[in-house]
Amino acid sequence: MTRPAPAGAAPAPSDNPALGRALADWFAATRRDLPWRRPEDRADPWRELVSELMLQQTRVATAIPYYERFVARFPDPAALAAASEEEVLAAWKGLGYYSRARNLRRAAQEIVREHGGRVPSDFDALRALPGVGDYTAGAVRSIAFGIATPAVDGNVLRVLARHDGLADDVAAPATRRRIADRTQALSPPGRAADFCEGLMELGATVCLPTAPLCPDCPWRATCRALADGRIEALPVKRPKPAPAVEARDVLVVRAAGRVLLERRGKGLFEGMWGFPDAPDSADAFAARTGVRPDLAAARDAGRVEHVFTHRRWRLRVRVCGIEGADAAAEAGAAVPARPAGLPDARPPFRWADEAEIPALAVPKAFQKVWAAACAAPAVSPVVYRDPEAT
Ligand code: SF4
Repeated sequence: MTRPAPAGAAPAPSDNPALGRALADWFAATRRDLPWRRPEDRADPWRELVSELMLQQTRVATAIPYYERFVARFPDPAALAAASEEEVLAAWKGLGYYSRARNLRRAAQEIVREHGGRVPSDFDALRALPGVGDYTAGAVRSIAFGIATPAVDGNVLRVLARHDGLADDVAAPATRRRIADRTQALSPPGRAADFCEGLMELGATVCLPTAPLCPDCPWRATCRALADGRIEALPVKRPKPAPAVEARDVLVVRAAGRVLLERRGKGLFEGMWGFPDAPDSADAFAARTGVRPDLAAARDAGRVEHVFTHRRWRLRVRVCGIEGADAAAEAGAAVPARPAGLPDARPPFRWADEAEIPALAVPKAFQKVWAAACAAPAVSPVVYRDPEAT
């Protein structure tokens, strides 16, 4: 049996319970005050699940207002399960990585259907929920249920690679498993939540990727990287390939205070609204959408770049009106409130009131496109006579 370190002395590097306790104590004493750490939130597995999914790929400061609004609007799995995908995507708008929102809604539906509306504590049942991987399942079990379970993310890999002086590639599955086992061994009995959050907090606030604040670290006395002067060299990571560039032309069709949107199909931004790809011809576009764009009068609205984890979109934005309107005769007339003369758009396309755009589930990449279109010189005014108004 390992002997606990005497009070005031640094634990030995192999004294797992003492190291784990030192980290849990440090966390309890220094933790940042965050909404998902309020006692009632921390003890609620649903809120824990929501916060973990939001914090994947999103900074804490960005996630806070979204978290507050989201759990107020969807306080339990049943509330989210009953919401439409459009509502959920709109509530998530601006956080990016929208598959998380769709998965969370599907997870809520599964929790209602399979688990009586309560987030399960069983690892396999949690892991089977859409969007829940090993890390999220481990965090929910450890923090909300108090059951010690490895939750290994980039922060945890960095902290333990440095503390243990591991020179193996942390992206390799074998290294990840080794670090997961190590966290399990370190978790002190009865302190799973503080230990799990302590590791995350240490990586987020002290053991930073560059210039870590080692004097503030509860593990400084046993840290291998600090003792050997190898902090900058650890963790070892294979370089990531540069994101692939996708260059495309998009078309923003505006008419009578409306803009043509496309509901995105399977893949990136599924279920959200965007702008269609520019066509080779007006005929091809009309066959696809039901709307014939006035390509001859299209204006260039510049280029937009948006970087995702593995790809970079380089979009050329073009703006135009539609063909067939008696624009000249109506120039200067007020835009009618109800543009009855607009041609029908075929699903998945639809006309949206331009004023509606901020409230719709339009991802950031397309918000940039819309901003570029709005900043471009106006297209020819295309107005319609409302047959019922005369
Ligand atoms: S002593 Fe420094 S490098 Fe080592 S775990 Fe702590 S913060 Fe990281």
